[in-house]
Amino acid sequence: MSSLAPQRPGMPARQISASSFAEEFTAARNRLKKLDFEHEHEQDHDDESPMASPALSSSDSLTSEEPSPLGSEDGDSMDDASPATPITPFTPMADQDSNDDVADNFAFAFDIDGVLVRGGKPIPEAIEAMKVLNGENEYGIKVPYIFLTNGGGKSESERCADLSQQLELEVSEGQFICGHTPMRELSSRYSGSVLVVGGEGEKCRQVAETYGFRDVITPGDILKANASTAPFRKLTPAELSASRDLLSRPGVGKLSDIVIEAVFVFADSRDWASDLQIILDIAQSKGGRLETRSETFDEGPPIFFSHNDVLWSAAHEHVRLGMGALRKIVETVFEETTGGKKLTTYAFGKPQVGTFEFAERLLQKWRAEKHGLVAGRGEKRGVGTVYFVGDTPESDIRGTNAMDEKSGREGTEWYSILVKTGVYQEGTEPRFKPRKLVGNVLDAVNHGIRREMARKMKTSSGGQGQGQRGLWPLGDVTGLKKMGEVEGRMQECVISEH
Ligand SMILES: [Mg+2]
Repeated sequence: MSSLAPQRPGMPARQISASSFAEEFTAARNRLKKLDFEHEHEQDHDDESPMASPALSSSDSLTSEEPSPLGSEDGDSMDDASPATPITPFTPMADQDSNDDVADNFAFAFDIDGVLVRGGKPIPEAIEAMKVLNGENEYGIKVPYIFLTNGGGKSESERCADLSQQLELEVSEGQFICGHTPMRELSSRYSGSVLVVGGEGEKCRQVAETYGFRDVITPGDILKANASTAPFRKLTPAELSASRDLLSRPGVGKLSDIVIEAVFVFADSRDWASDLQIILDIAQSKGGRLETRSETFDEGPPIFFSHNDVLWSAAHEHVRLGMGALRKIVETVFEETTGGKKLTTYAFGKPQVGTFEFAERLLQKWRAEKHGLVAGRGEKRGVGTVYFVGDTPESDIRGTNAMDEKSGREGTEWYSILVKTGVYQEGTEPRFKPRKLVGNVLDAVNHGIRREMARKMKTSSGGQGQGQRGLWPLGDVTGLKKMGEVEGRMQECVISEH
């Protein structure tokens, strides 16, 4: 599967035997040597744009200074106990494309909002970009890809169904991570009552229950039991009907009989005022007991946010406030109303490195189950480069660069690409610099593929390519030239199709 016979449009599929391919490869390589081919594009922009590769700050990220929500109890550092660390990605079995030509040394990962979708509608180039990855390219090659979004509020299966419809292709749960996916792991830790905030109607309660949380309470349940909790919030008849009657539970005569073990903000709040009030009430309670007040303000339960995006790209011409803004408000108002006490909350999602590590494991599983790609014996890594395409420097680019730095030279390269169709505004200086800035997701996909092709060409011209995984036939130079990447001497290197 690594040495792949290209299927060009309009041409029948071509089978290359090992010997004929080897001969073709050797001849082509000799020709390249004679031409002393040196591919200028391999320099790429790697050296032009040194990465910020930031260390994640403690103010808005999980760091080693903070207690671990997911780590072991013996004081593991946060790096070792990042949200993803103990989690095995959940992937349903996929129908394997066992006979397809698949790029085995690189892959793509996509943010969704502002990259593929905006305001519920696909960004025009997104559908074409997916087609390119699914084999409609000059090389007839498929490129594995996954989706990594901070969004949420629906089950993974529902979100995949939405995305499938928007992008006109089938998206599997096995290639999808949303902001609250890693929270699944916490259901075994918090087996009592938890508060779940955000999302439409009862959706997030349902998602949390599918994750295994046993007693999921919502702000609506609390408002139903005591309407004065948020004086200006009136539940609609539908909300009243859907909300559960906490006071009718066995052994519960009043709300203070209920203890909240943890608060999870699964998705964006639909009513910031009442949700803020209820989260702060619990944060300032005696050990999570509803309608109590701590005297020390340091005994509230942990509060988790599924991501930390302050802004996101929606249908409005200007970016909108996201969950990260609510998180800042919760922390700020807590401090303001407790005489200066600090509240530590936790955020999953990008830019957390743990989330990217989770994504890499999901990608490995997806490559194996969908494409039959598994690392060979003795190989340290399964995929050489992951191209991450995002629109938000503070989460997408920051996280990708940090992941790349953590992976190191021996690990998978995480290559950040920033698009201009979402949060990032053209002409501004992104706070976290991408390896490549492009117009849209189709440009990003083409850039990644061209970069890989250029890399293969340089490797093969240097005679170092034999035996490497993912080496493509040099006949693909034709396609490379067509894509406009190669100029000058490169055109002399074209090897015609046999
Ligand atoms: Mg986005």
